[in-house]
Amino acid sequence: MSNFFKNRAPPRQKRSPTPTGGGLTRKDSFGSEPSSPSVASGPKPLYLSRPFCDAALVKGNFKTIVVQPKYVDPNEWVAVNVFDFYTNLNEFYGVLTECCTQQSCPTMSGGPSLNYTWLQDRKRVSLSAPTYIDSVMSTVQNLLNDENTFPTKSSQPFNPEAFVGTVKQIYVQLLRVFAHLYHAHFPDILHLRAEPHFNSMFAHFLAFGQTYGLFEERDIRGEPGAPVGVGALWERWRSVGILES
Ligand SMILES: [Zn+2]
Repeated sequence: MSNFFKNRAPPRQKRSPTPTGGGLTRKDSFGSEPSSPSVASGPKPLYLSRPFCDAALVKGNFKTIVVQPKYVDPNEWVAVNVFDFYTNLNEFYGVLTECCTQQSCPTMSGGPSLNYTWLQDRKRVSLSAPTYIDSVMSTVQNLLNDENTFPTKSSQPFNPEAFVGTVKQIYVQLLRVFAHLYHAHFPDILHLRAEPHFNSMFAHFLAFGQTYGLFEERDIRGEPGAPVGVGALWERWRSVGILES
């Protein structure tokens, strides 16, 4: 069971300031909720415009690459994929940190009228996007390194109940990071000519999450009046067959 995880602990670069106040507990850090200031939506974003919206490294449906391989433990399969999504997104974000600063992104925006807030000491706090994302990445890394949730030794089984809950929480937070990067930094991604990579990574992430029920529809659509920007991209990819509808 443990072979996938031999080298699981990733080297993580320190990129941006840690959250003020510190002491974020696991419970606190995943209690964040979207807030919905009333901001009018603007013109169609570039990530929904052709040709960028359908740019990809590979053409076709992601269904086949998310299928659990024969003889692989289902929890192990989910764990190793979540670990990869986290690692790849963290590295991708590392390239964009110059663009995502306290000044450029004073809030964790995920759409024209959506700012995610972080639950800290039972209070919702508005963090800048770099601080929010750094909190997500730090917390997820700690969870992935926790042997009680993500065991790496064959003698230690998964605790299915705790595992599923934790993975879903991780997934929702990584989804928010994707939402922010698309909403606030897609021009930067285009500048790097990285949109095929980023789209492919996100489509894979969505296909996997959809297949294993790791996020809810409201997580990708958002709330009325505060839609998630990439919810429209998810819809599009479903309509053109990149994702299962
Ligand atoms: Zn940003």
